[in-house]
Formats: sequence, structure tokens, C-alpha cells
Amino acid sequence: LFITLEGADGAGKTTQGALLAQAFRILGYPVVETREPGGTPVSEAARRVLLDPSLKGMAPMAEVFLYAAARAQLVSEVIRPALASGAVVICDRFTDSTLAYQGFGRGLELERLAAINRMATEGLTPDLTLLLDIDTGEGLGRARQRRPERTEWQGADRMELEEAAFHERVRRGFLRLAEKDRARIHPIAAGGAIAEVHRRIIDAARRLAPN
Ligand code: C5P
Ligand code: MG
Repeated sequence: LFITLEGADGAGKTTQGALLAQAFRILGYPVVETREPGGTPVSEAARRVLLDPSLKGMAPMAEVFLYAAARAQLVSEVIRPALASGAVVICDRFTDSTLAYQGFGRGLELERLAAINRMATEGLTPDLTLLLDIDTGEGLGRARQRRPERTEWQGADRMELEEAAFHERVRRGFLRLAEKDRARIHPIAAGGAIAEVHRRIIDAARRLAPN
């Protein structure tokens, strides 16, 4: 079972992914938690490049291929082997982030991005995608609050330097993706209390696998 969490910065993907993993473990399932960009040494190295605020003026297609490289490594080194071993894999961001950020956010053609995604994953698609949807201002506020906990940069990462309109396009983009693939992508209202959002996620996961 392959589950991905998607949504804007500050939507709560990391927190909710950990709670969902815990819920599966209590039920006795082996769980592998991972994240994008990252999750392997090669992919974490790509992440450092992608988020480095000193690297201004990265070409959008260069960004796309760095994400794709990080993803290809993660799929082959972590996700496919974990699925083959029977584990539930929970991944914080995956291919839909490319469509939302580089497609809807930066204006690159969705079909080309989908083709690159297919190459990077060799066709691996999540069984369930939980789209944590949050008001853009609320999400960015949360993302800024946790800055001090981040060890990578002293201040904002490269993406936080984007204007609010960019983040709004990303949010709308995720919702459009969910409308186009209702069978896989489940939007979850992610504002409010952590426990309440967790309950909504469990409800969505139950619909996928009633037991
Ligand atoms: O906290 P998180 O792991 O989600 O941080 C990843 C960063 O990379 C975020 O700032 C997000 O906006 C950005 N990102 C992106 N394009 C993607 C995936 C993530 O700009 N395809
Ligand atoms: Mg996160």
C-alpha cells in the first residue's frame, strides 16, 4: 500500500504523515515513512540544492529535473523495495507536487511534467493521495513559525521567497488535480486542530481499505 501526502507548505503533511504511520503500526502493519525531495543520501543532496536560498535564478526545467532525480533515487532505493517487502509506504510529497508547483505554480506544461514523472517513477502511482488543503495565508504562517526548528537554513528556504500569488496558484492546482482524479486524490480540510485533521485522514483511509 502506497500512500502520499500532498499540499502546500505548512499544511501539516509531516505531522499528519507521522500520525497516520502510527495508526498503521498499531494495527500491526510494517510502515516505511519517507519524504520528498529527500529520503536517500542522493535525494537529500538534491534537496539541499533545491532549497538553498542563495541559488537564485534556477531555471524552472532545471528545478524539474532535480526533483525528478531525487524522486528516481527514492523510488528505486526506498519505495519499491519497501512495497515489495509488504510494507505500507507513507511519503510526504510525490509526483503531484511537481504538477502543482512546477506546473500550476511556474506555468510549465502539465503533459510534459507528467511524462517526466512517469520516467522518474517508472510508472509507480500511489494507491491513495491525501491532499491537505489549507488557506494559503494560514499555511505560510505555519511554515514560517517552524523555521527556527529547521537546521538547513538560518532563514527562509528558496520557496518561501516566492510571492503569495505563487502559493495560491499551487493550492488551486492541487485542488484541480484532485477533481481530475477523485478515485486516488482525497482532499482533506487541514485547518484547525491536529487531532481533528487526523480523524478526517483516518476516515479517508478507511474508505480505501475498510479493514
Ligand atoms: O517541507 P517540505 O519538505 O515540503 O519542503 C519542500 C519545499 O520544496 C517546499 O518549500 C515546497 O514548496 C518546495 N517544493 C517545490 N516543488 C516541488 C516539491 C516541493 O517547490 N515539486
Ligand atoms: Mg513538511
